[in-house]
Amino acid sequence: MRHVAIVGSGPAGYYTAETLQKADDIAVDVIDRLPVPYGLIRTGVAPDHQSIKAVSRRYEGTALTDNVRFVGHVSVGSDVMIDELIYLYDAVVLATGAPNDRPLDIPGADLPGVIGSAAFVGWYNGHPDFADLYPPLEAPGVAVIGNGNVALDVARILAKTPQEFAGSDIVAHAREALSHSAVRHIHILGRRGPHQIAMTPKELGELGHLDRASPRVDPADLPSEGDDALLEPGMRKSVTHLRQFAANPVAKPVTIDFDFFAMPVAIEGDGKVQRVIVERTTLDADLRSHGTGETYAVDAGLVISCIGYQTPPIPGVPYEHGRGRFASDEGRILPGLYAVGWARRGPSGTIGTNKPDGARIGEMVLEDIGRGAGKAGRAGLDALLASRDIAPVTFRDWRRIEEAEVAAALDGHPREKFTSVEAMLAAIGR
Ligand code: NAP
Repeated sequence: MRHVAIVGSGPAGYYTAETLQKADDIAVDVIDRLPVPYGLIRTGVAPDHQSIKAVSRRYEGTALTDNVRFVGHVSVGSDVMIDELIYLYDAVVLATGAPNDRPLDIPGADLPGVIGSAAFVGWYNGHPDFADLYPPLEAPGVAVIGNGNVALDVARILAKTPQEFAGSDIVAHAREALSHSAVRHIHILGRRGPHQIAMTPKELGELGHLDRASPRVDPADLPSEGDDALLEPGMRKSVTHLRQFAANPVAKPVTIDFDFFAMPVAIEGDGKVQRVIVERTTLDADLRSHGTGETYAVDAGLVISCIGYQTPPIPGVPYEHGRGRFASDEGRILPGLYAVGWARRGPSGTIGTNKPDGARIGEMVLEDIGRGAGKAGRAGLDALLASRDIAPVTFRDWRRIEEAEVAAALDGHPREKFTSVEAMLAAIGR
């Protein structure tokens, strides 16, 4: 029998498990620190993007196969150490994603009211770590820093009316707080220009169809239209949306301004954030941004930095500090230790990008471990956890948690998520 432990039950973890479970004589344990599976699908993908979240049904298919087991509510690094897993399993695959925000390294970034997207997205998605965030929504201005899809998610969630959350699984505390929001002016700050955005067309196009909010682009920021021909097709579509926003400004109560060539250089306020100081930029021949010395202020009672994520390091595991991910040779970190998904590549690509990644790492593991080395595997983990009085949450338990969440859903919503570990455990009688 071959034994593989996957740390992390998000897309990269389950796509790897999907490949591994097709092999003979294999037992795969998918370990997660939360009592609930699916990682970024549950707590990262926007609650109003249910069609993307539906991919969890595919992971459920993998989770329900005989040779795959969910080991929930077990923290690697405290309940069980990485060295212990390497001792017990033929291979350990780190699918821990990139849950930490890249730091916004400017003066004032530590003022109350400056929040990273991991926290804000986790808050509206019911991640237990961020249930008590209470983002300040009392001021009309918000600055969203970054020109990627996360910035779009954040701006859209801030701009929507309560009715526009019908069919979503946004959690009650966020629904309630946003329904009383005073936010009227959202600035999306990009340090480069429209041709350098990292926004995909579908997500950008959604901003043009909001009930009470309209996107605004300064036509002067757009390059000449002929230059769009040089872009790859997806980018060209995205830029076409920006051109439409610039050409057809629609008057609505909430504005979403795209500030291009706009580099935040400081955050100011008396005890809490009140404004972002932005320096105008130009691009050099390598398309890097440089400050021009000209600045302006954006009034904001809330600043959300959406500038990318990092994988937290694990003591003893080689790590690339500059790129915020584990150091690996195409996925091999050390003998018996692998990385997959964002923990391997860094935070890029869509959920689907993890499918070939998981398949490749799964095949690599199978090739490396051969018939296995007679390790203790899941029986060894069970004994170790029992000796520490730790009872993992099983996939069957999770399905009971899920049933309770579905039963608690308000009309028109698919579920009402539990937002604390205690409430999740209470649903299974612990
Ligand atoms: P991202 O796509 O890497 O975008 C990060 C943005 O932050 C870039 O515009 C970058 O600008 C900017 N930035 C970085 N450092 C900065 C700084 N110090 N000051 C100002 N701006 C800075 O990251 P993301 O938006 O977090 O998304 C992560 C991944 O998840 C992406 O692959 C994304 O497509 C994916 N995602 C997909 C969806 C979806 O498909 N619906 C939704 C959410 C996320 P530069 O280009 O100048 O570096």
